[in-house]
Amino acid sequence: MSILSIDQGTTSSRAILFSEEGEILETRQKELTLVYPQKGWVEQDPEHIWQDTLWACEEILDHHKDVHALGITNQRETTLVWNKVTGQTLYNAIVWQDRRTAELCESLKENEAMVQRKTGLMLDPYFSATKIAWILDHVEGARALADKGALAFGTVDCFLIWRLTQGKQHLTDITNASRTMLYNVVEQKWDEELCTLFHIPMSMLPDVKENVDEYGQATALSQPLPICGVAGDQQAALIGQACFETGMVKSTYGTGCFALMNIGTHFKVSKNRLLTTVAYKINGQINYALEGSIFVAGAAIQWLRDNLEFFEEAKDSEALARSVEDSNGVTFVPAFTGLGAPYWNPNARAAILGLTRESNKAHITRAALEAQAFQTYDLMGAMEKDSGGESQIIRVDGGLVHNQFVCQFLADILEVQIDVPVITETTALGAAYLAGIGAGFYKGLEDISKRWHLERSFSPAMDLGTRQEALKRWEESVRLINQSPSFLTNYV
Ligand code: ADP
Repeated sequence: MSILSIDQGTTSSRAILFSEEGEILETRQKELTLVYPQKGWVEQDPEHIWQDTLWACEEILDHHKDVHALGITNQRETTLVWNKVTGQTLYNAIVWQDRRTAELCESLKENEAMVQRKTGLMLDPYFSATKIAWILDHVEGARALADKGALAFGTVDCFLIWRLTQGKQHLTDITNASRTMLYNVVEQKWDEELCTLFHIPMSMLPDVKENVDEYGQATALSQPLPICGVAGDQQAALIGQACFETGMVKSTYGTGCFALMNIGTHFKVSKNRLLTTVAYKINGQINYALEGSIFVAGAAIQWLRDNLEFFEEAKDSEALARSVEDSNGVTFVPAFTGLGAPYWNPNARAAILGLTRESNKAHITRAALEAQAFQTYDLMGAMEKDSGGESQIIRVDGGLVHNQFVCQFLADILEVQIDVPVITETTALGAAYLAGIGAGFYKGLEDISKRWHLERSFSPAMDLGTRQEALKRWEESVRLINQSPSFLTNYV
């Protein structure tokens, strides 16, 4: 018995086959191209999203006949609109990173408190609502079709479910719905006032299901499978990391970093510029999470590799960092695209501070790796203020956690235990777990908790003085960057 998990991400479309025990049996993947038609615009070809996903599934189904269920996880917020009759998309998928609706969001700023109270989100182009409005207002004839009820909106999960069920099901899950800025996460329904604010006809919206639910039969596959588990990527990772108790945190270190803290069954608006989002809803029971993101995590290592040519491969950064005792006073603030939570300063830019004649690439690399921990420290500070509790353990995953220097430095700076699980493909695993519950392989979340296995734990080992000095250096550096000197802001 096995479960197929689709992980449709920003940079690739993947299918992973998991055994009932949660082991990876096979993986297929295709890179996905991002298109940048104008400054700040980011799009993807919907047919590539669909064809690549289909290809990855078929490659696996080709030589596995014992697959029982299908789970889906996806890049969140990315927006598609299609014709309900023809199935044709009206425009490219507008990717979550796209900033074309910044002005529209700015013009609606006075509504931000209401939006946050209902959705837990900030009024930002990142989320789907203004992206849908843009398509309706800029594609010829779209608004008229929408008013006639002829159009469907969906995030990537919904689009894939529609295509996989050959147009039979227009459904999304509650975690993806919670990222649209149209879904009232307190009342758990699409919100009329929000739809009016963003001029979106409610007839476009999919029905919202729980994370474990009946999403229909994927009849487009050569081996039709029941789709029974769906969640957005960060929420799926939270499930893959089995963070089911209040206060548990998972932090994923890929290109960027996303940290989610389970805050239990009560919705709470952040007072520290974090997002509140639906963690999962299973068997009628909803859990919320606080979410904070760091825009640049592994991307700083890529930059050292590709732009400064410090090393051949990202993993070489570890030996280089360990070749020196410390960063020799060098601090790297990787704010290449601004500062994320809790600062939210889009005008800030990256800087390497404290350089001397002795500074070399090892010090700079070490400072870039250390920055991962400092950025997480700032994020966790905001989460703890919001939640009123301190985390004792953080479960980490993503490409960067293969770097043991980073894991140890995280433990040292955060003064918490850092746990790395055996399976770090937590996103796809989370979707497989959900589908597994749906298919009756697992009884529920307790059953999944038992399947989480520790690969390695890192405990704090830094002396107090060194830690305080390091944190002071970081705080002062960020303060400097956060002031956004005019030569930077004018340049933007
Ligand atoms: P994504 O899912 O965002 O594409 P991944 O989880 O695959 O990202 O992680 C890739 C990122 O992690 C890259 O930015 C890469 O630079 C970084 N990375 C991978 N392995 C290491 C390592 N051993 N040391 C430092 N950085 C690493």
